[in-house]
Amino acid sequence: MTDDSKFAANRAAHNEKKAAWLRTVYERNLAQCRAADTQDAPALARKAHTAMDTQLQQDSTTLPDGKQIRCSKGCSHCCHGPVEIWPQEAALLAQFVRDAGLTPDLALLERQSRYTVETWREQAVADQACVFLDAKGACSVYAARPNTCRKLLVMSEPAWCDARQGRMEDVDRWFSWEAEMMEVAALEVFGMALLPRAVLAALNDGE
Ligand code: SF4
Repeated sequence: MTDDSKFAANRAAHNEKKAAWLRTVYERNLAQCRAADTQDAPALARKAHTAMDTQLQQDSTTLPDGKQIRCSKGCSHCCHGPVEIWPQEAALLAQFVRDAGLTPDLALLERQSRYTVETWREQAVADQACVFLDAKGACSVYAARPNTCRKLLVMSEPAWCDARQGRMEDVDRWFSWEAEMMEVAALEVFGMALLPRAVLAALNDGE
């Protein structure tokens, strides 16, 4: 066997092992979601968010040498894209909005609700920002932000996340695969919608 073919064989074995591990993690998370108590939707979302934060904290102790998470308050390029959430997260956001006395722009939510992941970028640029992004580029619902937002982290220059810079291919995303599987399972079990539509529905539910 040549060195090249040994390398290819090792790589294939590694990929197979990783795929099997991911399947196991995904199935464990699926089972946990299916067994979750859905009576109190905001409480379920809060519990899942705590689990996500714990997972991210734990996995971020093993970043590659010399790398660090570069995301910080005020850096919000990722808040201009479509955000997928599940209904319990929308219920938590609606509860947070009411408790904090926030007044999200309902007209913007209505307009954004007409778009999908595929068509999101067809909106006017100003309309692509999340309704919860404040004038300083901070998240006004930070404590209740969805898991999609919690796990979207980069190790590269934050400015490169701005699509207008033309550096998207250089963005070095950091993945916690456990966190990815947690979210894929939750979206699968609880159902997925884009944030504007889900939040509008949750706000209307609570009226
Ligand atoms: S919920 Fe907060 S973190 Fe998530 S996209 Fe909106 S502003 Fe950004």
